[in-house]
Amino acid sequence: MSETRIAIIGGGLAGLYAAYRLGKQGIAFDLFEARNRLGGRILSTESGGFDLGPSWFWPDFQLRMHNLVSELGLPVFEQYTTGATMMEDRATGAVRGAGYLPGNTSMRVEGGTSQLVRALAGLLPREHMHLNAELQAVHLEEQGLRLVFAGTLAQLPVYSHSWLALPPRLAAGIQFSPSLPEQNVQQLTAVPTWMAAHAKYVARYATPFWREAGLSGDAFSRIGPLAEIHDACNEQGAALFGFFGVNAAQRAGLSALELKAACRVQMVRLFGEQAAEPIDDSVYDWAADPYTATAQDRVSSGEHGSLDSRFTFAPPWTGRVQLIGSEAAVEQGGYMEGALAAVERVLAGLK
Ligand SMILES: Cc1cc2nc3c(=O)[nH]c(=O)nc-3n(C[C@H](O)[C@H](O)[C@H](O)COP(=O)(O)OP(=O)(O)OC[C@H]3O[C@@H](n4cnc5c(N)ncnc54)[C@H](O)[C@@H]3O)c2cc1C
Repeated sequence: MSETRIAIIGGGLAGLYAAYRLGKQGIAFDLFEARNRLGGRILSTESGGFDLGPSWFWPDFQLRMHNLVSELGLPVFEQYTTGATMMEDRATGAVRGAGYLPGNTSMRVEGGTSQLVRALAGLLPREHMHLNAELQAVHLEEQGLRLVFAGTLAQLPVYSHSWLALPPRLAAGIQFSPSLPEQNVQQLTAVPTWMAAHAKYVARYATPFWREAGLSGDAFSRIGPLAEIHDACNEQGAALFGFFGVNAAQRAGLSALELKAACRVQMVRLFGEQAAEPIDDSVYDWAADPYTATAQDRVSSGEHGSLDSRFTFAPPWTGRVQLIGSEAAVEQGGYMEGALAAVERVLAGLK
């Protein structure tokens, strides 16, 4: 094994950023993504580019994200927060409260965070990007790493390294031969995948009628089904989005139609009759997506998790297999910034 050839597993932000940076350095790579799309937890609606995954980054303390969107020339704008916040609970019903002031400036990418995915993917060589390629096993052979995928892929080379751009819990599900020691598996499965237990609702409207009524679009509810709602307008249209408060197990018993119907009723309670008929609305349940959430994530509270910074894969995998997904970051683990930080850390150690 002489030549450096890296297999990047996962085409979310971490995998794409790794490919982008390796490409710039002239290092050979192939990227393998299990889904039929790139982006991982980054997903925006087809119509309007409203985010069903991450919406915000915070340039005050997330310089890598700030620099990357600037480098890619992506227009960004500040989250709309002007106006009153709505609150509701069973005792008071829906009431108008003071404005909600997030501590740091929350920025959004125009057209949805998936523009970041599109921009990175557009700079990568298609012949080295493989969709519908779920890694199942890694075998260590004399010549290097032999990868086994669920689908049939053309004859693949062996790789010097495999960078797992995945949540640690999904990495723990990959079969290694020789096998990983139990301690490694436990360390990986102990790390919750951030936001994996969550689901988002997005409703697109003809106008931002709440703004006209002096409301910011922010709302907090103890009734549900949405616990937290925010303005999601962009240049393409008006929208509100919310995070579900009902947990993954409760959601699993309801159809998307039932969830949407309950959300619409709540939107009317909070924002008035104009909210009754969105142009369209979408629900995405990340807890039900096996390429994000494991069974453990579905029952967890969705807390932030970061892999222990001293974590390494045990011999003979040390240095050959690395984790570069967001949850592997020493700082900002779970966030998009964490995905960039985790990649940079491993890149810095590449000999
Ligand atoms: C609802 C929601 C809201 C969020 N809000 C924010 C926010 O506002 N700001 C923020 O910074 N972060 C937010 N996040 C977190 C953010 O999305 C993540 O930090 C980031 O997208 C992680 O990128 P990643 O590449 O590390 O992992 P992922 O995006 O999870 O990518 C992993 C990729 O690996 C693929 N994969 C899985 N298993 C295999 C396999 N065996 N073989 C091949 N491929 C595989 C998956 O399909 C996926 O594409 C949010 C997340 C969610 C779900």
